[in-house]
Amino acid sequence: MRIIPKPFLCKVFGHTWQYHVEDPKIVWTASKNMSELEQRTEQEPRFFQRCVRCGLERSWDAKGA
Ligand SMILES: [Zn+2]
Repeated sequence: MRIIPKPFLCKVFGHTWQYHVEDPKIVWTASKNMSELEQRTEQEPRFFQRCVRCGLERSWDAKGA
């Protein structure tokens, strides 16, 4: 597990959360008639919040500082 030290500001004021969406890897494949490209994603996009100062991550639905 990665240990991220919390900056002083986070301890005093709480974290500054920002919403992020991490796009999954997108794969383009030719369809059967080779005239169209189909977009296929290999995994679901990841929704999360990240503190702009210390980089801590938490779930998208989390509330508060
Ligand atoms: Zn923080």
